[in-house]
Amino acid sequence: MTTRISDLLTASVRGLQPYVPGKPISELEREYGVRDIIKLASNENPLGPGEKARTAMSRALTEIGLYPDGNGFELKSRLARHHGVPLELITLGNGSNDVLVLLAEAFLAPDTEAIYSQYCFAVYPIAVQAAGAIARVAPALPAQHSMPLGHDLDAIARLVGPRTRLVFIANPNNPTGTWIGEAALKSFLRALPPSILAVVDEAYFEYSRDVCPDTTQWLGEFPNLVVTRTFSKAHGLAGLRVGYALSNREIADGLNRVRQPFNVNSVALAAAAAALDDTAHVSRTVALNARGIAQLRSGLEALGLKVLPAAGNFVLVDLGRACGPVNEKLLRGAVIARPVGNYGLPNHLRVTTGTEEQNARFLGAMRAAL
Ligand code: PMP
Repeated sequence: MTTRISDLLTASVRGLQPYVPGKPISELEREYGVRDIIKLASNENPLGPGEKARTAMSRALTEIGLYPDGNGFELKSRLARHHGVPLELITLGNGSNDVLVLLAEAFLAPDTEAIYSQYCFAVYPIAVQAAGAIARVAPALPAQHSMPLGHDLDAIARLVGPRTRLVFIANPNNPTGTWIGEAALKSFLRALPPSILAVVDEAYFEYSRDVCPDTTQWLGEFPNLVVTRTFSKAHGLAGLRVGYALSNREIADGLNRVRQPFNVNSVALAAAAAALDDTAHVSRTVALNARGIAQLRSGLEALGLKVLPAAGNFVLVDLGRACGPVNEKLLRGAVIARPVGNYGLPNHLRVTTGTEEQNARFLGAMRAAL
């Protein structure tokens, strides 16, 4: 009897739904033969990195023949200063994605459970399933709620049981853009048993400061809190892959045990260290995004579409019909946005804010596609 290699996969990996990334520009060029493409599909920063990060990257390239500092001392020192915490509370990751996976590897096993919300960021289900653990999915808030499709903390709390080890909360959430305010999040954390880790994913933190709490300030109160952040979004370094977690030192110690020795490359370490305190670049980015959200919202609403509340650098729009044909027309018009059928939202499209000109081009393409 011949063995199929796919039969050798663990049952959890066989059942895994792979992550669906935004379509790369080069792929659309190849497949559709279109040029002058705009990509508003992966929540990237249209400005890219700031000058300080660019300079640091060039300098770091001169030493690219050497392994990176496996402990990331310089970046960790800057982060420690930036957040006012000891170095030992920091875990660096190849993107914050890496840290989310490390959390699952370190704290989940086949007989344990993790909780997340319906319509949450797609990496949580993948990390939990790959660890062979059981996923408990809390129903999202209803479409008529003031935070439509957002995390329902009461529903999450109801799923807590003796086998729960991790709870994932994205604030704001991707792909919905919805968020949880300070009071609600704090009372949820106070009620959560201290033996369960609460992972608060703040990938869009810089964009969401008006409405979301900075939970790094709560680490002293909650020894079971893990906050993840990234340089991929407001810092414009998505291609380099660098993110981090702040947590108490025992959690950080556990994560650092499973972390690959050189999980963050030397160019990324240098760029992130330089980007961290480039407040001018972050302010420019956040201001551009605020204008972009307003532009996309009013343009889409003028087309009669419903746009969800948005605290990140993207909007989720309900097309009221299947997204596929509309998206196909956008692609032919050289515009890449993000259908989110894989999230169970076949009628919704997620659109990242671009420059004013890119947003206008997207809105024009949408008008034509509809
Ligand atoms: N969390 C959320 C909510 C995200 O949307 C993303 C990026 N799509 C990430 C984490 C991971 O980003 P990165 O690995 O680039 O830090």
